[in-house]
Amino acid sequence: MISKKKKTVKKKSRKFKAGEKIKEQAELLLQPLRGMKDILPEEQPYWDQVRRVSEKLARDYGFARIDLPLLEYTNLFSRGIGEGTDVIEKEMYSFLTRGGDKVSLRPEMTAGVCRAYIQHGMNILSKPVKLFSTGPVYRYERPQEGRYREHYQVNYDTFGEQDAILDAQIIQVALRVVQNLGIKAVQIQVNSIGCPFCRKEYRELLVNYLESKKNKLCQDCKKRMELNPLRILDCKEDKCSQVAAAAPQSIDHLCEDCRLHFRSLLEYLDELNLPYMINPHLVRGLDYYTKTVFEIWSGQEEGRKYSLGGGGRYDGLIKVLGGEDTPAVGFALGVERLIGEMKRVQAKAYKYPKPKVFLAQLGDFAKKKSLGLFSELEKNGILVAESFGRGSLKSQLKVADRLGVEITLILGQKEALDQTVIVKNMKTGVQEIVSADKLVDLIKKKLKTSSVIVYHNGEENGNNSKSLNQD
Ligand code: AMP
Repeated sequence: MISKKKKTVKKKSRKFKAGEKIKEQAELLLQPLRGMKDILPEEQPYWDQVRRVSEKLARDYGFARIDLPLLEYTNLFSRGIGEGTDVIEKEMYSFLTRGGDKVSLRPEMTAGVCRAYIQHGMNILSKPVKLFSTGPVYRYERPQEGRYREHYQVNYDTFGEQDAILDAQIIQVALRVVQNLGIKAVQIQVNSIGCPFCRKEYRELLVNYLESKKNKLCQDCKKRMELNPLRILDCKEDKCSQVAAAAPQSIDHLCEDCRLHFRSLLEYLDELNLPYMINPHLVRGLDYYTKTVFEIWSGQEEGRKYSLGGGGRYDGLIKVLGGEDTPAVGFALGVERLIGEMKRVQAKAYKYPKPKVFLAQLGDFAKKKSLGLFSELEKNGILVAESFGRGSLKSQLKVADRLGVEITLILGQKEALDQTVIVKNMKTGVQEIVSADKLVDLIKKKLKTSSVIVYHNGEENGNNSKSLNQD
């Protein structure tokens, strides 16, 4: 029999453990998962700059936007990206739903875009079909600087054309996005890994060579020998790089079609004067690539270089996923990497337009009217600041001063009853009383219509709008 004392100790320790558990849970709730992060308001000017530049270039180059679910059936990725790849083997967030479906958070976007292309019969559209998508992707990698478990990508895909001019244009778009963000010093690396036909022969040659060096390879690469020997070529381990350096190169073993395609791509890149180099070890991590592969690297002279993005041709993917034979080429850029590089080179973030008008109110009746007046100005494209929670005029004017507005509108009890507003010029201090129905026109005139920013659905609009960078 357990003594009374022992029972209380046991009870106490159970209580303690439960308390510990609650504490542990409470602590966990106050932080995001490892490798994930919040994007706080002060970071948003960088994110907005990336959104605006990438979306504008998508429109300029004829890409239509497509948004896809974050979750897809797991076999979409395993079939598309390839069973032997790191992404599928080690990095996917996969789970069973309550209904028993095996699903995964997307580790990249192209497989989902292809699924939608087939499902929605986009093959009947005139070619090329160009699609742009953006959002988070998930990879269960070891988090480190510039490597997260949730990161964002901007993704461009082109369907329906074989010609290498499309590959060159895709590389051009990737470079335009990077450069328009103010990142000038970059390097483009290109390679061709051939088609399934010539790659088969090349793969045999490569495996023969690698077999003879097997004991010099890292553990991961030893495993890759079977499933994904090409991946050994871009392993970052020193000893594997040394083996890779003397390995046969895919560009020396291309079939005639792939050779001409690669030559044609290089001619287009030369014509465009793009800063590229051939990297015969570039293979990319996913199985679906054929012919062209490329990456864009940050040009840090010293310190770590980062891959800002990459892509290539994937002529077989739509067919593998059940669609008709459709050549395709695309790329993705990592948003966090772009922002990291923008900060490093001190590129400009987006500057939000600042309100030039402040609306102050005094007294209960005026306070009630002020919400409507604010909305009237906003509907007419005039950016207004306010501090409705404050009662005293003095403290509201202080805020107006701090914001550096040009005009303060004062709505007191008397003005609210008379349907007028006091318009105060903050530079000269001169005040005038204006009838409420003439206010919008007067403010527009005062702000010299050229500097009024007209908003429509969050976008600048109209003839009077300013350019993208409000500086
Ligand atoms: P990938 O599909 O692996 O070529 O990724 C495209 C781009 O996304 C890379 O070039 C990086 O800029 C970025 N990226 C890939 N993985 C990560 C990650 N774990 N964290 C942050 N950015 C990443």
